[in-house]
Amino acid sequence: MIAEATPSVQNSEINAWLSAEARFNEAANRLGLEEGLQKVLRMAAMELTVHIPVMLDDGRIEVFTGYRVQHSIARGPAKGGIRFSPDVTLDEVRALAAWMTWKCAVVNIPFGGGKGGVICDPSMLSMSELERITRRYTAEIIEFIGPERDVPAPDMNTNEQTMAWIMDTYSMHMRHTNTAVVTGKPLALGGSLGRPEATGRGCMIVTMQALRQLGMELGSARVVIQGFGNVGGMAAKLMSRAGFKIVCIIEQDAAVYNPHGLDIEALHKHRKENGSMAGFAGAEEIDKDEALFLECEVLIPAATENVITSANAHRIRARILCEGANGPTTSVADEILAQNKVFVIPDILANAGGVTVSYFEWVQDRQGYFWNEQLVNSRLEEIMVNSFKDVVTYAGRHNVHNRIAAYMLALDRVATAIKLRGLYA
Ligand code: NAD
Repeated sequence: MIAEATPSVQNSEINAWLSAEARFNEAANRLGLEEGLQKVLRMAAMELTVHIPVMLDDGRIEVFTGYRVQHSIARGPAKGGIRFSPDVTLDEVRALAAWMTWKCAVVNIPFGGGKGGVICDPSMLSMSELERITRRYTAEIIEFIGPERDVPAPDMNTNEQTMAWIMDTYSMHMRHTNTAVVTGKPLALGGSLGRPEATGRGCMIVTMQALRQLGMELGSARVVIQGFGNVGGMAAKLMSRAGFKIVCIIEQDAAVYNPHGLDIEALHKHRKENGSMAGFAGAEEIDKDEALFLECEVLIPAATENVITSANAHRIRARILCEGANGPTTSVADEILAQNKVFVIPDILANAGGVTVSYFEWVQDRQGYFWNEQLVNSRLEEIMVNSFKDVVTYAGRHNVHNRIAAYMLALDRVATAIKLRGLYA
């Protein structure tokens, strides 16, 4: 029996790392994973802290702190983004690195998990200061990254330009151009076609699988999306083209609603021209705090973490919850959603389309042979469909909900790799 949802949410509930730990513990216990392996998987394999002296534009010297954590390299090179933010902590980077291990394992791509970060406020830094921070950070971690070791990617406040600087710095040190050291690069430097759409496309593919699984029709599926950025905006565009009815988009400034389906292309144009969702002619504006609880077939939180908590999970009226964002649901909310029979496609599966196409980018760079977009998309579809089936089958076999099934599957794959390799002493 689930306790009555309380209006205020405990801090511990919205601590993403405690949520991740709760899921790890449950998955490990259900798997009967031996204690020694649990110890190995709880701990990051490598944690690096670097202090980066950088000359600012005004001639002052500032020292920034950066981290790179490799949680696991059991299944292949570490893979994961680098974020620039004043709030970066080693604890956060550690937890995000573990998250990447599970995500790569769920979609069965040959990577481990890593993450990096630099404590800085990009809004206070010029482009040339950002470039110097990026290059010096890269130089400090250079022995630990590389196509066979650890492959960074963009994350919060970093982008394809940041990746181009990292790739160039690494290549200058190696004395030859090596594009496979990072993913999320510009197309002109070995980036992959289909990467900007990949996460949104992945969300669409697994949602289609869920509809099929539940015997529901695509054409009558009403979709509500929170966040109209890379993930949510792309998901909206692709899903509306595929025939879904996108009835509501929720953004920070406004929520727009049209029960007959929004014209997504027109909404993109409107937001670009006006800098806001507000005032869009093809819809009515509704309370953005209430929009999450609209009755719909599919809800895609694609904005930020801790959106669905013990305080509001009971109000979700979607049949399918496809987690485009990382960590939008707390572990306490998981139980409420399960009790209300919401079919959850957990983040480590739902938004893994991005890292999957990053894997394709790495493969293409190493081959020196680039695929057309159709090939990228069809291979992405194959991986997302197979991963969805793996998770759902695992859930059925072990009688658990999809999130715990995804964690169990991931833990099982990583633990198997560790066992097969044995402990080197
Ligand atoms: P983004 O910055 O491009 O877009 C996020 C959008 O959400 C913005 O338009 C922002 O205004 C909006 N938003 C933020 N808080 C909101 C709120 N409380 N209510 C409504 N709207 C809000 O970011 P993104 O790349 O689309 O990433 C979104 C989420 O998906 C993050 O959790 C990210 O970690 C995760 N994710 C992204 C990728 C990727 O490939 N970009 C891959 C995996 C996971």
